[in-house]
Amino acid sequence: MKSQQQKPGASRAIRCECGGELRPTKFDFYDFSDYVGFKVTVSGADGFRCNKCGGETVDGSLVNAVMIYTIVQVAKSPRLLNGAEARYLRHSLHATQQELAKNMGIDRVTVADWERGAEQISPQHDFILRAFAMNWMVAENLITPEYMREILGANSAAVRRLPPKKRTSISDTAAVVKALVPNCEVRASA
Ligand SMILES: [Zn+2]
Repeated sequence: MKSQQQKPGASRAIRCECGGELRPTKFDFYDFSDYVGFKVTVSGADGFRCNKCGGETVDGSLVNAVMIYTIVQVAKSPRLLNGAEARYLRHSLHATQQELAKNMGIDRVTVADWERGAEQISPQHDFILRAFAMNWMVAENLITPEYMREILGANSAAVRRLPPKKRTSISDTAAVVKALVPNCEVRASA
């Protein structure tokens, strides 16, 4: 349910694709699973709901913020990446399977096998993929190099202690998304 671009002189109402009107609303719960490929929900997000079809939409800046937050969340996971998480980190790098494979010195089929769950990623490649994603975030000024080292250091320690005892807390990474989208609570679970 995408809102259409408003033309000069058009009615002030934002129109839904169905012809209904998109009205501002605050969502108790908004599901971003379609964007990231696994379960990510946000409570308290501002958005719009169509008065005709009931379609819901949120602002692109919120989508971006949640996707960035989710990269950090995935990179902090204290267990090996699953297929959806590996794919998500690759997408965050805007890399094809072939490009990622080349940068890791492995075959594209190996990357494809991780992503469809046919093969578990090795601890070494798991770490490299997270490091690529965190490096990208540092390059984009989304996190500091210190925070990157903290995340990767905690991760390599956690992977060495497999199997993990507990999931990563979101309390410290919550600051990242708080700065980007005030008044929202984000929960991610792969
Ligand atoms: Zn509609």
